[in-house]
Amino acid sequence: MRPKIERPPFPAWIDSSTRLAFTECELKGAYSGLYHFKPKSVSNHLSAGGAFAHGIEVARKIYFTEVRRDNSSSSSSSSSFLFFPNLSPAERADIASAAGALSAFLAKPEEDSADALGPKSSSRILLAVLRYFAEFPLDRDIIIPYINPRGEPAVEYKFAIPLPISHPETGEPLLYTGKFDMLAYYNGQYWPVDEKTTSRLGPSWASNFDLRGQFLGYTWAVREQGFECPGVIVRGIGLLKNDITFQVAPVRYPSWLINQWFDQLCEDIERFKKAWENHSYSQDFGESCGHYSGCAYKQLCLRPNPEEWVMTFFQKLEWNPLTEQDYTATDLLYEALCELT
Ligand code: SF4
Repeated sequence: MRPKIERPPFPAWIDSSTRLAFTECELKGAYSGLYHFKPKSVSNHLSAGGAFAHGIEVARKIYFTEVRRDNSSSSSSSSSFLFFPNLSPAERADIASAAGALSAFLAKPEEDSADALGPKSSSRILLAVLRYFAEFPLDRDIIIPYINPRGEPAVEYKFAIPLPISHPETGEPLLYTGKFDMLAYYNGQYWPVDEKTTSRLGPSWASNFDLRGQFLGYTWAVREQGFECPGVIVRGIGLLKNDITFQVAPVRYPSWLINQWFDQLCEDIERFKKAWENHSYSQDFGESCGHYSGCAYKQLCLRPNPEEWVMTFFQKLEWNPLTEQDYTATDLLYEALCELT
């Protein structure tokens, strides 16, 4: 299909979502990765997951920034690699009491009117954040963010790494970009950590990640800078109707698999460039159209004149990893190396 909309510039960076969208359906990849059309209404599933991630992010940033500050002022250990808090028993009790009281308050209406509070309602998401920190207490969690000498925890970690593929307009190297919840230093190695909310946990949930390009890309990005990274740690949060459960899945990726993923990534990007040059994108007309709750662009494909409906259903939103790069991978890992040597 040749969209009757002016061909947009080719992006300077590609992320996992864009590659996946393009491989599922070229037109879907074009709408999301070239035109940056994002639905005006976000599904409850996505907003619940985003709210949960934000809760974890804020708590981690506050806690580990405070811990760093307290350690700096009270001891000479400010150059140590990781910082563990020394909360007094009274401080711990205060926090536990506040969290416990809030949990009880939020849980009570659920017992009275379970139907009124779905597993992804705002109060359940807040409860999930509290339960998460009861399961993985900030002061005792063995998987915690790396903290650089400026006291910044590696939370919401972004990266942008040049690829051996040139941009079709500028000739500059294209960038592979991504963002994960935390870069942890655990057991002598670096691990990207990602939290995933889901309605089902168990062995099949963990096996979903064996060949997940998103996580292979995270591992590649950390290894690409010369650091040992065996794979990713995924923490699953099961948002069930009457319960909130947890599961941890460390997923290790061998080098040969990373290499295969990288070769495939480059091939896919070359095909994306070719489709862009021709301004012609094939349509799936298959599984991708009905995937989960349906492709976000189905409303356009069901109309003979999609260009006239774009701004009714979508807005143009472009995530820029370069301007939002408040914590660069290169700086972070360089600092870590300096501290270790
Ligand atoms: S609805 Fe189907 S054909 Fe249309 S963009 Fe989505 S996946 Fe492609």
